[in-house]
Amino acid sequence: MSKLSRYIAIAIVAIILLASGFFIVLMNSATVQDRVVGRAISSQLAAAQDDFGGDKLEIVFCGVASPMGGAGARGTAQSCIAVFAGDRFFLVDTGARSADKAVALGLPMGRLDAVMLTHFHSDHIAALGEMHLNSWVRGRAQKLDVYGGPGVARVVDGFNMAYGLDYTYRTGHHGEDFVPSKNAGLVARPIKADSVIYDRDGLKVSAITVSHPPIEPALAFRFDYKGRSLLISGDTVKDDNLIAAAKNVDVLAHEVLQPDMVNAVAGALDTAGLATLGKILHDTLDYHTTPVQAAEAANEAGADLLVFYHYAPVPQNRVMDRMFMRGVADVRDTGVLAARDGTRIALPVNSTSIKIFD
Ligand SMILES: [Zn+2]
Ligand SMILES: [Zn+2]
Repeated sequence: MSKLSRYIAIAIVAIILLASGFFIVLMNSATVQDRVVGRAISSQLAAAQDDFGGDKLEIVFCGVASPMGGAGARGTAQSCIAVFAGDRFFLVDTGARSADKAVALGLPMGRLDAVMLTHFHSDHIAALGEMHLNSWVRGRAQKLDVYGGPGVARVVDGFNMAYGLDYTYRTGHHGEDFVPSKNAGLVARPIKADSVIYDRDGLKVSAITVSHPPIEPALAFRFDYKGRSLLISGDTVKDDNLIAAAKNVDVLAHEVLQPDMVNAVAGALDTAGLATLGKILHDTLDYHTTPVQAAEAANEAGADLLVFYHYAPVPQNRVMDRMFMRGVADVRDTGVLAARDGTRIALPVNSTSIKIFD
């Protein structure tokens, strides 16, 4: 063994001994554990900076799943899109797991202005109570407005009733100065379809009727901010009303269902004797949009960027990712993005650029 090789061997042994020694101390010393955990949390907090919104219209996907297929290995949350414009911050839909996702993504929950619900299927509302809690304990300065079509008051009343005791416990335990009761609770803001539902500080939000029978109304939302624009489809079949409302939009976020995949899964469920699940899956085919139809809709509207979300079923691997793109390039060979949880898209004002952080 040469001299150099001997030094390297000694160095490797020393590093292994040091690492093992630190591991043993870490596992057995309360003081060291406290310091390591404290430092890790401090560096996480230091890394989280609120640069959302400002002089841009901005979108962050906090959930791209439908109920079909569960969270999967990727831990995907159900439908949730954060929209920022200036100092405004809205959440469009709050599906299961999306509150955890919103916090993990570092969204500034304390300045959440309102939730907008496209419709009241469970995969769009399940995390409403947790969104309320996560924004309240981070300093939300008013009760949480919840915009939605007819039925929103019933949903809001239900959540307020279910979480009512929790509201009083939190204030009772931590005090009015920290979790004030005046900011506890959801407020229903019923909206009329096919009208402007918000118009303030340069931001205009419109609600558009889409087709998702038997749910009526099911809504899409269009955001316009200082010349930049975004349309979020909610759940719908390919819909002429949506296409008209999405005219020349910068970003069209459209739900997608992959029929080949649904048929394959439904067939497997039937074969396995799970006929009810198989039937439910078959039924979904008639009230969603295929990726190819979404591409056609984006072309007909003249949308710059089409973004797929609300995947049915939820793709669990790269093979399934490919299946969602089947036939899409034949219709639209550029300007298509498959969103994941965490995908962020920024549309700076006084610009035509679309910045994607995936
Ligand atoms: Zn849905
Ligand atoms: Zn739905």
